[in-house]
Amino acid sequence: MGFFKKLFGSDLDGRALATSTDISDYAQIDLLRRFVEPRPRHDAQEAMRWNRVLPRSYDDTLALFVKQGWLTRDGDLFQTTPAAAPFVEEYAARLDRGRQRAMEKVRTAIVARDCGEALDIRRQYESSHPLGSADWSGPEPQLSRSSLTRRILFLNHWLLDGLSPETVEWLKLYAAEQHLWEAYWQLPDAEIPAYVAADLASSALTPSEAAYWKAYQLALYVDNQETWQRCKGGDHVRRIEIAGPEDDHTCEFCRAEHGQEYLVARVPELPHRACTSPLGCRCRYEPVLESYEDLEA
Ligand SMILES: [Zn+2]
Repeated sequence: MGFFKKLFGSDLDGRALATSTDISDYAQIDLLRRFVEPRPRHDAQEAMRWNRVLPRSYDDTLALFVKQGWLTRDGDLFQTTPAAAPFVEEYAARLDRGRQRAMEKVRTAIVARDCGEALDIRRQYESSHPLGSADWSGPEPQLSRSSLTRRILFLNHWLLDGLSPETVEWLKLYAAEQHLWEAYWQLPDAEIPAYVAADLASSALTPSEAAYWKAYQLALYVDNQETWQRCKGGDHVRRIEIAGPEDDHTCEFCRAEHGQEYLVARVPELPHRACTSPLGCRCRYEPVLESYEDLEA
């Protein structure tokens, strides 16, 4: 009986799939969990990506889920059923544990100043996901990312003026960790050490916000430096534009700079010292791509 059931592919064991170490097994539950909120099937391009990792085609997999009673279909919308909930939750808990483990390992590597190792851990973690990426970290990282992250750890900049060595150290680790993952998260106030909170005390921001934005500044500075150096070293970019978010926290000085273009050698230094935003200057360099006529000239 088991043989026939297997032959017709109708005896999926959700729990076994959710806990399996075989990526083509847990990919099925990973797909299933995308339908916890009702949604239509994925578009053709996404379905192709799923096809590469699922043991059967994307459409056959959805049809099988419906047959298993794991998925219901209402018009164009699919949704997981209560029968699927236990192992979908089990898989979500597994993802959480994997994320925590990877983050701890990356943190340890960064504390040891080994950013190459930290990036390897990130890549390994992401490639263990059926589509090769986690839903919280950045896009496929460049190999040079680890050396950029490393620059944060050795940064000496006026952004850090007036802060105690302990606070600088703590902020650099926080910034480097976020930079390495290309993901930015606020910590609860309770997780901000008292010396950091005291050093960054601001009437406009909570300790959590103040730490977040200071760390963000460090990562942004390193990324801006990298953009500038790349433009300076190449022949294809002559001008750089100042870009940045326009919102309630954008100061008048930075607002006036947004959209301004400068020759690479004359571009003002970022962050702007004149910025008065409580969040700090969020301006960034954007290489201006020359039009075809410009290149001809
Ligand atoms: Zn600015």
